[in-house]
Formats: sequence, C-alpha cells, structure tokens
Amino acid sequence: MLPAERDWQAAADAIAAARTVLVLSHVSPDGDAIGSLLGMAGLLRGLGKNVTAAVDEGPPEELAFLPKSQIILPSLARGEFDLMVALDAGDIERLGAVGAYGLAHSRHVLNLDHHPTNTRFGHIQLVNPAAVATAEIVYDLLQYTGWSLSRDVAYALLTGLVTDTLGFRIPATNSRCLAIAQALMEAGAPLPEIMARTLNRRSFAEVTLWRQALPSVRLEDGLISAAITQGDLRQARLGKETNGELVNYLVEVDEAKVAVVFKELPRAVKVSLRAKPGYDVGRLGAALGGGGHVLAAGCTLAGTLAQARERVLPLARELIAAGDSL
Ligand code: AMP
Ligand code: MN
Ligand code: MN
Repeated sequence: MLPAERDWQAAADAIAAARTVLVLSHVSPDGDAIGSLLGMAGLLRGLGKNVTAAVDEGPPEELAFLPKSQIILPSLARGEFDLMVALDAGDIERLGAVGAYGLAHSRHVLNLDHHPTNTRFGHIQLVNPAAVATAEIVYDLLQYTGWSLSRDVAYALLTGLVTDTLGFRIPATNSRCLAIAQALMEAGAPLPEIMARTLNRRSFAEVTLWRQALPSVRLEDGLISAAITQGDLRQARLGKETNGELVNYLVEVDEAKVAVVFKELPRAVKVSLRAKPGYDVGRLGAALGGGGHVLAAGCTLAGTLAQARERVLPLARELIAAGDSL
C-alpha cells in the first residue's frame, strides 16, 4: 500500500510536534542510506529541531565528501528522543545496534523506506516501493510540507537518487525521478561531481579484490556467480565494508539472467543478488532472511562459503526457470 494523504500528514505532524529527533539508516550504509539520512537531518535542523544522526560504524570513507557527514555518530549510548526516523531500512534488524537503542529510547517511530520487503514497522510509515530511492520519498515529504530546500539537503538527496539508480540506468528510472533530480540541481546539487565521487571511481584495493575474485566466476544456464574469500579481502586490504560492486558488473554479462556474489565473513557469508528485468531476486533475498528489491537484493547466511553456495544456487536456478516460463 502506498502512503496515503493521512500518512504524509501524520509524518508532518509527528515532526512538527517533536523537539528531539533521532535519524538512522541501515548497517553497511550505501549512498541512499547516507544521502537520505543527511537530507532528512538537514531538513529537520532547518526546522529548528535538535537532531541526532547515527549509523552503525559511521559513514563509509567514500561518502565522507557529503556536506555534514561528520555529524553521523557510529554508535549511540545516551539520549531520549521524541521521534526516531528510520531511513532506507526494510526492517528493524537492518538498523543494527543504533536501531535497537533508538527503539528503546524514542516515543514515536517514522519508517521512511522504498523496499518492497519492508515489514511496516513503526508508528508512521512512508513506504513507497515505487520510489527509486529513499531520498525520493524524503523529497516528496518536503514537497508535501513546503519546507525549504537548502543546497546541502539537495546535495545529499541527489546522491541517494544517483547511487540507487546507478546513474539513472536501472529499469525503475522514470521521468519523475529525473524531474526531482532537476529540482535538486536547481537547488545547487552538483550532478557531475556526485557522479564522479560515487559511480565513476574505485580504489586500487577494489581492483585488487577483483583480480583475486574474477577467477572464481562461473556462468551456467544464465546463472553467473563468484566468491570472495577472507583471503581475497586480506590480499586487497579490505574489510567487510565493501563488495567491490562485483555483482553489478557480473549481471551486465549478456548471457546472465541472475548474478550471485558470495562474500566470506568471519563466521557467515554475505550474499549479493542481482537480476535482469523479468527475474525477481527480491523474494529470494527475503526468503533467505534478508531483503531487497526485485532486481537487487541480499542476505547474510551463517556458515561457510560452501554451505551458502549449496543453499542459494539451487534456489537461483529455480528462479531463473520460473522467469523463463513466464
Ligand atoms: P547489496 O548486494 O549489499 O548491494 O544489496 C542489494 C540490496 O539488497 C540492498 O539495497 C538492500 O536493499 C538489500 N539487502 C542486502 N543485504 C540485505 C540484508 N542482509 N537484509 C536485508 N536487505 C538486504
Ligand atoms: Mn540502501
Ligand atoms: Mn535505497
């Protein structure tokens, strides 16, 4: 169900009534998580609210270029809040330790997200799976309320739009999100700079990781997969914070219908799923205890790489067969 007039009004009222607001987004934050969080934080500060922003372990280094990213706390140990705003998180667990703290110390919870797998947690929900990014929904709230748009807020929101649409390339890209991008540019957000700092860059460590991981790539009946081991990560001097965007690259292979990248963590495996249009990995991600969108999803499974492959690959094959039979 899309947000109705009363949901927008409930969100506006809750914000108007709050003095202290906690804004949070998901663990391993991406550009939309940090962009929508900083956009929301900036809007709230403009309204004179006392704003606390946090994500587990803080923002990743590659998003530190965003204005005011230094306000984001890596953990929470004190504070009581009138309102908690959860951004770009499909469920409470995705908010990590800061989410657990926030839930226990906030009177009201606003769930603002675009994942179709959203569990509808919180007192107020602005959940719109048709939005290409959570940043788009923050912009819609701003339009609804008539709040003013500063350059810093526009910068943050455009970063969310750009990163979640991979530079306006994903199939969900529509004229509406381009119109929003135009409005954000008119408010001072530098599109080429955001593109350059998010999509058109990589660290040498990531290239090293690809060099390690590419020999593991397999393609069989439309299913392309690869594995990143702890050894590969050590070799590249990377921790758990990156997946090197390998999975986005693999799904672009002509013969691929579904792409899966397994990344070995100390006692678990992070699984990244991508699909070509016509195939749905969102439900697979959710069925495996994670979540996501139709074309991009993921989950984390306890156990070894071999166990994760045995569990996920047959399900991915089934999902290709289901898509093929449509
Ligand atoms: P990733 O492969 O990590 O880039 O994730 C792709 C998308 O899947 C993300 O934008 C999330 O929406 C979702 N996702 C990934 N991992 C998880 C997880 N453990 N739980 C819920 N959703 C996830
Ligand atoms: Mn995200
Ligand atoms: Mn998002």
